[in-house]
Amino acid sequence: MLKLSKNITKLGTETAFEVLARAEILKQQGKDVINLGIGQPDFKTPEHIVESAIKALRDGHHGYTPAPGILELREAVAADISKYKGINVNPDNLLCVPGGKVTMFFAIKMFGMEGLEIMYPNPGFPIYESVINYSGAKPIPIPLREENNFSFDADEVLSLISPNTSLIIINTPANPTGGAISRKEIEKLIVGLEKHPHVAILSDEIYSRITYDNFEHVSLLEFEEIHDRLILLDGWSKTYAMTGWRLGYSLWPQSLIEHATKLAINCHSCVNAATQFAGISALDGPQDSVDTMVSAFNERRSVIVNGLNAINGFSCKTPIGAFYAFPNISETGLSSRKMQDLLLNEASVATVAGTSFGHLGEGYIRFSYANSVENIKIALNRIETILP
Ligand code: PLP
Repeated sequence: MLKLSKNITKLGTETAFEVLARAEILKQQGKDVINLGIGQPDFKTPEHIVESAIKALRDGHHGYTPAPGILELREAVAADISKYKGINVNPDNLLCVPGGKVTMFFAIKMFGMEGLEIMYPNPGFPIYESVINYSGAKPIPIPLREENNFSFDADEVLSLISPNTSLIIINTPANPTGGAISRKEIEKLIVGLEKHPHVAILSDEIYSRITYDNFEHVSLLEFEEIHDRLILLDGWSKTYAMTGWRLGYSLWPQSLIEHATKLAINCHSCVNAATQFAGISALDGPQDSVDTMVSAFNERRSVIVNGLNAINGFSCKTPIGAFYAFPNISETGLSSRKMQDLLLNEASVATVAGTSFGHLGEGYIRFSYANSVENIKIALNRIETILP
């Protein structure tokens, strides 16, 4: 009998990858599957970014780099934070990592163990709850309700804090709901957190550049009073259509950066060198491709929201950010999982059941609208055809 570690069986998964695998099998069987399941931009990484990586390889950047990332990259990140979040940060507090997920894994492992509690959004990105369980800490869901436009109520969040709470995870704009937290609610939360100085905060702002209708993204970094316990998660995956490059960054308080860097050295040593040069080029170069992508998402957003609201039994709030629609499907009488399977098997449309994002996702289904308007329209037609 193998002596596996106790918590390894507590790890969950990201169903979007399973759906992707099933969609691929159906495609190989000749089915014309429209993938509205996976959360990645359908755009190519802008050419000037690709060229920088090719140049870096040609210039001989083939070796290890410093574990936190090359200084030029961290300086470019600091300049970007100053430009978009209005705060000056020290590049020495930045850690470049292989994707946004790595920061959440490190932060949850740093603050999670038996006897402690970690609060996380539900429905929310599934890896939060999965890694909290793996760490041994108790997952405490922060409910994100449709009637609140999938934002939270700061008073309710504060009421869930206990002496054992070690970390609160905030994600705005959010996956899977497309909801975002208003300045008013964030300010209320920050004021309340002053009474709980034992609680660290992980702010996942990976969709901060993808918002609509002039929504003002509020970064938790704006609040200096929590700088000594705030971990900021961001990255290139979504903003620059770079999901496959595996590049993200985090900002850590002075007291934690050394632990985070040691985790990096123990885990992956450093990010692929050529990718780091691509990352500099993304931040320093022209931003028009980001604007083009976001306006394409905006057009698709109205097509999908209107289309979903026209389907019997579906009702869909208008998302404020990211590229997901999260309609309520409870009136169809089907569970989220049944609906996911029905849409994939009968309509060849890949989506992800709301329950893949936590138990509070029952009655919902996630559509990623990172696909062409044409495909979205075909998918909506197919869904209308198969539903009674
Ligand atoms: N955070 C959220 C909320 C996400 O939705 C995702 C990816 O879907 C990530 C983090 C992880 O991003 P990455 O692909 O850079 O690891």
